[in-house]
Amino acid sequence: MIVYKFGGTSVGNAQRMQKVAELITLDNKSKVVVLSAVSGTTNTLVEIGELLLKGSNDTALKLIESLKNDYLKLVEELYSSSASKDEGLAVVNKYFGQIENFANIPDFNLGNNKTLVAYGEILSTNLFAAYLKSKNIVSQLLSAFDFMTIDEDGEPEIEKIGSKLKPLIQDKPLTITQGYICKNHLGQTDNLKRGGSDYTASIIGAAIGAKEVQIWTDIDGMHNNDPRVVDKTSPIEALTFDEAAELAYFGAKILHPTSILPAQKYKIPVRLKSTMDHEAKGTLIGLDSNQSDIKAIAAKDNITAIKVKSTRMLLAYGFLQNIFEVFNKYKTPIDMITTSEVAVSLTIDDNRNLPQITEVLKSFGVVEIDENQTIICIVGNMVSERSGVLKKIFDCISEIPVRMVSYGGSRHNISLLIDSAYKTETLKKLNLLF
Ligand code: ADP
Ligand code: ASP
Ligand code: MG
Repeated sequence: MIVYKFGGTSVGNAQRMQKVAELITLDNKSKVVVLSAVSGTTNTLVEIGELLLKGSNDTALKLIESLKNDYLKLVEELYSSSASKDEGLAVVNKYFGQIENFANIPDFNLGNNKTLVAYGEILSTNLFAAYLKSKNIVSQLLSAFDFMTIDEDGEPEIEKIGSKLKPLIQDKPLTITQGYICKNHLGQTDNLKRGGSDYTASIIGAAIGAKEVQIWTDIDGMHNNDPRVVDKTSPIEALTFDEAAELAYFGAKILHPTSILPAQKYKIPVRLKSTMDHEAKGTLIGLDSNQSDIKAIAAKDNITAIKVKSTRMLLAYGFLQNIFEVFNKYKTPIDMITTSEVAVSLTIDDNRNLPQITEVLKSFGVVEIDENQTIICIVGNMVSERSGVLKKIFDCISEIPVRMVSYGGSRHNISLLIDSAYKTETLKKLNLLF
């Protein structure tokens, strides 16, 4: 069984959906196909949800109507027979009826909002399944709500998902399901965070022991630098799970930040492929990769740096432990850390509890906060015997003020912290490494 995942742009209009149908029927091997929402839809649903949360229901209804019109156009273009157009129309009317109902809920709350943002994937999969039917392609549409669950910490319940899903897909040549959406431990509608359809595919791959997970998107694989910022980037043929996980976590948007972890744990290879150019090799993520020194660079924005300077002369025993406990208490992960004799600097990307964290840290020393920082993550085979890697990196960016450096934490990563104002310049300069 192979798991295919198609992202928002890959199902972004009628022609693209038709292309997806072609791609999944190139051979007749069994597949689970995970679809995202049509590109832009989740953003619009998020916007509608924000309006409803603040009581701007009329504006929300206008936005719902305009989104519905986009779907009516999609139906017109996607199907050729009038019977299939009617079926598509019924899908749009049914789900937009439910979306409009949210504007009549007196106290629209965060729980309602999670149900609302699930409609993007519900719409795309129902319309796509109706298209397959109109082309006489046999498939089943499975609701992610019937098997995709997360526990109270928000972690996917992989074993449980596997035991529910395996019997449902056994002997079925083609199963279509939604990315992103799930049920939480209370049985409520929830999701795997923005971009979470990649995560769905990896979770399903792990849960059913798939031969491979293929993430199909609008670019021919993981590139060696951010193609949104740098002009000349190129696809990487092979990455290890660790390298790919690092790049995804540190900003390579092609993959949801934690999407590699389930596949890695269950050793399921992940292949990144382009819907626009299906012959292109793409990137294979697995246990092996080639030995080149520096493979790729990614950047993660909205980072806050926190420096705590001990009021005692030297870092006393227990100082770091006390500091870590504060972050632990507020469930705030630390990304980078560096220490000197009297101070520790660390970074976080989740600012929600920053005021409380700062308050407590003040009891251990002088606290300095720098917001709008960016982590530049350089991934590759950085074994310390390979002298020269650091020199090459710093030669490229000799004029950039670097706030923190983290090297040696793993064999495959160097992280630099810079002010976000220098991000574009830094990524461009580091591109000289390739
Ligand atoms: P999808 O809708 O298919 O999930 P995304 O927009 O989430 O697609 O991810 C694909 C986009 O990721 C590409 O269009 C590209 O601009 C961006 N991207 C950022 N960093 C990288 C990278 N290192 N390699 C490839 N794509 C990247
Ligand atoms: N539709 C969701 C989003 O836009 C999930 C995804 O596309 O992966 O975030
Ligand atoms: Mg994505």
